[in-house]
Amino acid sequence: MPTICWFRRDLRLSDHPALVAAVAEARAAGDEVVALYVVDPALWRAAGTPRLAYLAASLRSLDEATGGRLVVRHGRADRVVPAVARQVGASSVHVSAATEPYGRRRDEAVEAALDVPLVRTGCPYAVAPGRLRTGQGGPYQVFTPFRGAWLDHGWHEPAPRPRDVPWAALASDGLPDAPATDVTLPPAGERAARERWHAFVREDLAGYDVDRNRPDLDVTSWMSVHLKHGEIHPRTLLADLADAGRGARGPLADSVATYRSELAWREFHADVLWHHPAAARTSLREVVPQDAWATGPPADRAFAAWTDGRTGYPLVDAGMRQLRAQGWVHNRVRMVVASFLVKDLHLPWQRGAAHFMEWLVDGDVPQNQLNWQWVAGTGRDAAPYFRVFNPVTQARKFDPDGTYVRRWVPELRDVPDRAVHEPWTLPGGLPAGYPERVVDHAHEREVALADHARRAR
Ligand SMILES: Cc1cc2nc3c(=O)[nH]c(=O)nc-3n(C[C@H](O)[C@H](O)[C@H](O)COP(=O)(O)OP(=O)(O)OC[C@H]3O[C@@H](n4cnc5c(N)ncnc54)[C@H](O)[C@@H]3O)c2cc1C
Repeated sequence: MPTICWFRRDLRLSDHPALVAAVAEARAAGDEVVALYVVDPALWRAAGTPRLAYLAASLRSLDEATGGRLVVRHGRADRVVPAVARQVGASSVHVSAATEPYGRRRDEAVEAALDVPLVRTGCPYAVAPGRLRTGQGGPYQVFTPFRGAWLDHGWHEPAPRPRDVPWAALASDGLPDAPATDVTLPPAGERAARERWHAFVREDLAGYDVDRNRPDLDVTSWMSVHLKHGEIHPRTLLADLADAGRGARGPLADSVATYRSELAWREFHADVLWHHPAAARTSLREVVPQDAWATGPPADRAFAAWTDGRTGYPLVDAGMRQLRAQGWVHNRVRMVVASFLVKDLHLPWQRGAAHFMEWLVDGDVPQNQLNWQWVAGTGRDAAPYFRVFNPVTQARKFDPDGTYVRRWVPELRDVPDRAVHEPWTLPGGLPAGYPERVVDHAHEREVALADHARRAR
């Protein structure tokens, strides 16, 4: 009897324990492995065009890696997967466990509809969400103790890549077409992920601890895109970090520790969402009264200025334009634009999060929603509400020469020196085409703090 390896957000062949299990079972039976991908209309509809275009490219790469044997089927997973299992007489269906609300529900429905076992081996994280518990047996609420427990727990070595997999040849609906997009996408697929990662380790890891907050330098790893689609597993990254850090001192040792800690944030958010699935939509705690949120046409106008990168605040505008150009934004800038939406424009984080999900190539429910909650101050271990990012001081600190702003906001290219971060101070007035500020940051900050104080009373 053949087995099925049902790929979802694990579009790779290396370090893939579920694939290893599927291959071992098929080999023991002297049979083949069906490489299955289901184009699920619910997920397809929910993803924005850039992410779908990237996904289509990643599937093409996976198809090539299986020698053209990827079997693509369209339809609801709880119908398609059992149908394929019956068609080939499979002994089991192997998956990497889904840990997010939609994926968990979908897999339960598939499991109920299957006549054979759905075998879950591994998941997209080094430590499965839900595994770590506090001394009292509850979930972790705070990042730092979570990270300590995560480091103590440790993880497996990367799983070996199966060789000469006996892929089954089966009719496929064909690879989905990549929707047209103006976004410049990074190269997709497992090989691209590894090449990017190795280049990062070689060239930028040593300086990561110092330079990672600088959007002008563009020296972060871009692994979020590949991790989102499972083209590389965090275990592989952690193993390479351990190698790079062995015996290291000084900046390299610090950088290895910092990068590992960033991966721990990813695992923390997945863990929080595991325990609180509603956090994908609702605030884990309310921080301002309901009437504090802007509504109606003024709110819509403010939102449009934000999405179009025309708020009049250069760093915010640069970030929002980078989002539309690359489907990716540097982490520091994500924080600044998110803070601006919530605390300067008084719009609920969910509105900004939805826009991000539409455009981000790495758009990922646990990371996106919980980072938004972190900035909005509504998350479990969030930034305190009164910490309001100042878009000018952030720009001066993290884009000191204005290189990042000039890259994304052409109207400001000729503005000299640091005036690029405050073009309203130019003696000749704003450069042609660049908008007036939609709000006054200092004033809106006071409004946000007053709203917060009102809620606390
Ligand atoms: C409002 C907002 C929304 C975000 N939405 C997403 C999202 O949809 N998908 C996503 O993957 N990340 C999201 N992030 C987190 C972070 O911005 C990106 O992971 C990071 O910018 C990706 O770039 P990189 O891979 O070059 O990062 P690097 O600096 O190279 O970091 C290495 C890896 O660590 C992890 N990491 C780093 N920072 C964070 C963080 N703050 N939270 C969780 N993991 C982190 C990522 O997996 C990242 O690939 C969001 C952050 C904010 C503030």
